[in-house]
Amino acid sequence: MVDAYSPQMNLIAGRWQPAEEERKIPVECPSNGEPFSSIAQSTETDIDHAVAAARQSFERGSWRRLTATERGRLLICLADKVDHHFETLAHLEAQDTGKPLTQARADITATARYFEFYGGAADKLHGEVIPYLNGFHVQSLREPLGVTAHIIPWNYPAQMFGRTLAPSLAMGNAVVLKPAEEASMTPLYLAKLAMEVGFPEGTINVVTGHGDVAGAALSKHPDIDFISFTGSPEVGSEVQAAAAKNHVDCTLELGGKSPQIVFEDADLDSALAAIVRAVIQNGGQTCSAGSRALVQKSIFDDVIKILGESFSNLMAAPHDEDRDLGPLITATQKNRVEKYLQSTDAKKVAQGQILDLAPTSGHYVAPMLYGPVSRDDPLAREEIFGPVLSCLPFDDETDAIELANNTEYGLVSGVWTLDGSRQVRMAKALRCGQVFINCYGAGGGIELPFGGVGKSGHGREKGFEALREFTTLKTIVQKHD
Ligand code: NAD
Repeated sequence: MVDAYSPQMNLIAGRWQPAEEERKIPVECPSNGEPFSSIAQSTETDIDHAVAAARQSFERGSWRRLTATERGRLLICLADKVDHHFETLAHLEAQDTGKPLTQARADITATARYFEFYGGAADKLHGEVIPYLNGFHVQSLREPLGVTAHIIPWNYPAQMFGRTLAPSLAMGNAVVLKPAEEASMTPLYLAKLAMEVGFPEGTINVVTGHGDVAGAALSKHPDIDFISFTGSPEVGSEVQAAAAKNHVDCTLELGGKSPQIVFEDADLDSALAAIVRAVIQNGGQTCSAGSRALVQKSIFDDVIKILGESFSNLMAAPHDEDRDLGPLITATQKNRVEKYLQSTDAKKVAQGQILDLAPTSGHYVAPMLYGPVSRDDPLAREEIFGPVLSCLPFDDETDAIELANNTEYGLVSGVWTLDGSRQVRMAKALRCGQVFINCYGAGGGIELPFGGVGKSGHGREKGFEALREFTTLKTIVQKHD
């Protein structure tokens, strides 16, 4: 029996229920700064209830006892359901995050695709038979972990729901999700759709609230078996420390300062258009935003000129105007980005526009192009998470590699050159989790393993790698005559 869904409720044990203290967090639309809804402000007690429900479901419920094929079928039903509610979800996502509708629609397409992909993959991950001594049969089994905790950010709430929950559910785990307090609306709506397609009660639990209360309570809970976290490096460290205390594993996806490396032999028409898109997408609030353009000295001035023309034409506008980019998520995020812009010594080359009719109460930042930016400027090394592209010149291949690897992050890189040998050398030398050659996929498709090194975090999401992350491996040794 599904209780009435409301964004002010948590989903616990298959029922929509208010947070214990019945306090609310207002939900604001970043395009105009106006509240349009509210969500539950949950406490440690609510997290306790959600973890207990997930534990009960995992230990005694039907989910992990279904065949992998049956689990996969239900995930695919959810993908279909998401498709049926496509426009509702896209509009809700756009209103909640401020992103242009076209981007929100792309995000909902990806959300459905996560459930389709992992639904199809659910019965395709298997153990192995391991050659051993005569008289022994040895096999390894992939088993679910148990209760997995998921803490997600505000930049892609719908996609993140699919990215983190679908592989865990496919493997038979029960999940507890704490979405970001700034953008919980589509995760709640997706959870409602999951209930409607028939996920067993307690298999999916969603608890909203502040990170330092509900998020912290979830990450340090002694009865969870794994944490999947996406967000800032600072909170990632806290989450990892909490996981270590309980001896559980975690994946951390903590953002980046991803370089787009442009050699003098690159096809500039396709390179520069892709470079602009990759930093403007979602207002630059993308972990894999290509926020540094590293350009060979011989073409630096030409490249800056062309990029400058593109940036001047970019337009930030309310989500329903569906222009190049929307506002940033909150006033806090806007202030954070503006502080970087006020304190840099780098030369501003070009600036985009903010639509005249955009409400002044919205959190708009005009797209900005800087260059040349010095190598130790925070604009060249730190994650800004806004529509800001920093251009830096390099001499040759060796210098390009040194410069590309000159941040604490290592998530994604783009390499633009027509020289095939150089493409391979660069791909091998770059310190990061994904390399795109003559293209840039901002994290890429659902099929492609994704994750970082260094301050970008560890562990892999997407593709079959995510399925492995959400399992534990058991080795069985059997003696026979
Ligand atoms: P954050 O790390 O504070 O929030 C991410 C998630 O963690 C949210 O769900 C939040 O509620 C939760 N959280 C916060 N404190 C917690 C705690 N103590 N314990 C457990 N969970 C907690 O990120 P933010 O403050 O929203 O953004 C700050 C910066 O982080 C951004 O400017 C950006 O640079 C980076 N960021 C990166 C990503 C990414 O996709 N990698 C996403 C969002 C933000």
